[in-house]
Order: sequence, then structure tokens, then C-alpha cells
Amino acid sequence: MAVISYNSKNCSECNKEKQLSEFGKHKQSKGGYYSKCKKCQKEWYNNNKIVLKEKRAVYIEKNKNKIAEKTKAYYETNKDKIIEYGKEYSLEWYKNNKDKVKKKQKNYRENNKQKYNAYHKKLRDTNPLHKMSMNIRNRTRKAFNRGNWNKDSSNLKMLGCDYTTAFNHLEKQFTSGMNWDNYGEWHIDHIKPLISANTKEELKKLCLYTNLQPLWAIDNLIKGGKYIKPKQNPKQKLKVNPNKPNPFDKVSHLEELLRKKESLRANYTERA
Ligand SMILES: [Zn+2]
Repeated sequence: MAVISYNSKNCSECNKEKQLSEFGKHKQSKGGYYSKCKKCQKEWYNNNKIVLKEKRAVYIEKNKNKIAEKTKAYYETNKDKIIEYGKEYSLEWYKNNKDKVKKKQKNYRENNKQKYNAYHKKLRDTNPLHKMSMNIRNRTRKAFNRGNWNKDSSNLKMLGCDYTTAFNHLEKQFTSGMNWDNYGEWHIDHIKPLISANTKEELKKLCLYTNLQPLWAIDNLIKGGKYIKPKQNPKQKLKVNPNKPNPFDKVSHLEELLRKKESLRANYTERA
């Protein structure tokens, strides 16, 4: 006769009386526990592993649609939780595998150079936000290299906002004729030049998005590495003094840029 106890029961496999803690919990069964003890359950699973796997594969194949629906429904009701968990998990994973990931990405880039370059060129050409963010990242990296400083802070952290905010911040400062289609005729300028930084901490501060402004290419070239304090009104353009000696030799290039700028302005006024 089976022993009646609240803390123990008999295993249906080995027939030994065992503590309840030695049985796995099973909601659907009477009493809330599996009939086999954990040890027997494990043994049984190991002995039937292959058959179970096959059975499972057949079940999945047969119930594909049902499972997909269920999964989708579960995802919809638990979306926020899943996304949050995914973020945390992937962040944690990335932290632990950073070097591996970087190496893999580098390898991929090197093995798929043409594909990679074409992809990024297309992105740059069609997506000004991407072009802007690439530009900011490249220049930040160069500035750190120039100072022989190890870049130990993320671009976004130094920028102090996300790229969309920086994008809008630049757009707000557009002077007449500037738009994202002619980005290139005007440059993204660091109001206080990155090159003026004497220490890494100084450089980091100069990367802040509030230090960015759009500047016509010619104005930017003339400004060079100089820090020209912005006027009260940021929309007011920097005055180019044609009487001042040009610091660059490529006069013709500058003249061409100047002509371009004027024609862009003229076009803009015509349309307006
Ligand atoms: Zn057992």
C-alpha cells in the first residue's frame, strides 16, 4: 500500500518513496507533480532523446501555423517585456563579446569591401541623416587620432543627443539656399574647431552637438581651424571679406565654391 504523506510520494518508475522536492512540478497532473522522480525522469529522457526530438519535429511541422499564431499572439501581449529583455540581454551579451564582434565585423568588411562600400555609399547618397552621422563619426575619430588620444567615450555620449536631434539642430540653423539635398556645398562645422582642443577632455566637450553649425563650404574653408565666435543670431552667415588675403593657394577652387554658393542662393530666392 502506498504511503500517504503530504511531503513525499512514490515514484512510478523506481517505486521508491521520495520527498516531493525530488519530483518535478507539473501543473496539469493530479497533486501538481510528475509521477516519476527527477532522477528517473532524467534517465527516461536520456534514453528517449532521439525519439522525442523526432516526435517534436513532426509535431512542429504539423502545427506550423498554429504555433506561429500562438507565438505572434504571445509576442503582441508581451511586446514591451520582450523588447526590454532583448535590449538588456543583447547589451550584456555585447559587453561580453565586444572584441569578438568587432573582429568579426572587421573581417566581414575586409572580405566584402566592395559590397560594404557600395552599401554605405548608397546610404550616404540617399539618406542625409546617415551621411551626417557618418561625417560626424569620422571627424571625431580623426580628431582623437590626431591628438593620439584613445577614444574611450561613445560618439552619441559626446554628441549629447541622438543623431535625429543633431540633424534638426543643424536644419534650424540653415541660411537661405541650404537644404539637405545640397549638403556638401555646405559643410558641418564645429563652431569651436576640434583642432583647438589641447586635452582629450577638451576635445570631448567640443563634440557636443551645440558646437555644430552648417557653413557654406567657402566660409568653412576660409574659417579653417580658426574659432570665429558666432554672432547673436546663428542664422546670420559669417561674412567673407574679399579684401582680406586668402589663406589658401587654391584661389580658383574657392572662387568656384563662391560662385556655386551664390547660384544656389539665387535659385533659392527665385523659387521662394
Ligand atoms: Zn524514480
